[in-house]
Amino acid sequence: MLVDNYGRKLDYLRLAVTDRCNLRCTYCMPVGGLDWIRKSELMTDEEMLRICSLFVEMGIRRIRITGGEPFVRKDLIKFLEKISSLAALHELTLTTNGVVTAPFVPELKRIGVRSVNLSLDTLDKERFIRIAHRDELDNVLRTLDALLKYNVEIKINAVVMENLNIEDIVPLVRLSKSLPVSIRFIEEMPFNGGSYQAGLHWNYKRILAHIREHFPDIQKIPDAPNSTSYNYHIPGHLGNVGIIAAWSRLFCGTCNRIRITPSGIIRTCLYDNGKVNIKDILREGASDEGLKEWIRHIVSTKAKDGWEAEKNRDNHEPVHESMATIGG
Ligand code: SAM
Ligand code: SF4
Repeated sequence: MLVDNYGRKLDYLRLAVTDRCNLRCTYCMPVGGLDWIRKSELMTDEEMLRICSLFVEMGIRRIRITGGEPFVRKDLIKFLEKISSLAALHELTLTTNGVVTAPFVPELKRIGVRSVNLSLDTLDKERFIRIAHRDELDNVLRTLDALLKYNVEIKINAVVMENLNIEDIVPLVRLSKSLPVSIRFIEEMPFNGGSYQAGLHWNYKRILAHIREHFPDIQKIPDAPNSTSYNYHIPGHLGNVGIIAAWSRLFCGTCNRIRITPSGIIRTCLYDNGKVNIKDILREGASDEGLKEWIRHIVSTKAKDGWEAEKNRDNHEPVHESMATIGG
């Protein structure tokens, strides 16, 4: 069992399998891309599998595969098959932008991926290009159709951005009328690889007020334990609506998450800057027990909340790295 100094049981691991991506979402990375992690510094499939199996032995029960875009990593499906066979793992999920995902949906279903988070910030082709700098909306919608067809649970993630997709909030909420999906609006965080203009324009309160203006009978529904979203239902809708106060950091008290970046750095909070590279320790020849000792040590340094984690960063600089290098 992995328990931090505040008594929180950590049973959820988010593994970023690459920092590379086939989109350039403005809130995540510059148009020119990132200074990509060198291939020799990326964890291999075998390394990721060994690290994940140790985490599962230590009490991790859910693993989410993320990135960068997980499907730009070669042979992702083969890797997912291996991870899904870890006996004590209860749930394997993934987060994808949906650009090349549609053809893999039957395989995901076969492997037992029950739920997928699909990022979709707009239903408008022109705005999609403005936000993601690629003309890929049709392919993302193809993935949405495939997930629906194969009965995979879908959470749609939309980052709310002043001057970019405010007019999309209502159309996205309307998707939940006829589709069994959860539409989650995320506060924009400063993790965009550099050019962040400080100031959160749309916090969770403003997002909710905007939705309520158009759907006055929206009702609060119970949130699952460890949920990062506040969840709502509109009577007569098949799906639900969620709001993630990612920048306001209101969910830290029940945080059960731990992250591994594509190069193997363990981050116990989105807002810390990661202190130990577990892949490097593994490459130095550490035993399984030695690696577990490190993991226990890192867990013991988990900050109380995202504010404390940010304050404790080594360089004391405000957070600015790309979400693709952390694994959102
Ligand atoms: N490429 C995949 C995708 O977009 O779904 C997975 C990785 S992406 C980094 C994971 C999630 O982080 C996405 O839902 C994305 O919207 C979110 N994200 C990225 N940058 C963000 C930011 N600056 N603020 C809030 N959410 C962000
Ligand atoms: Fe790529 Fe996902 Fe970042 Fe968009 S949010 S640039 S899809 S990693």
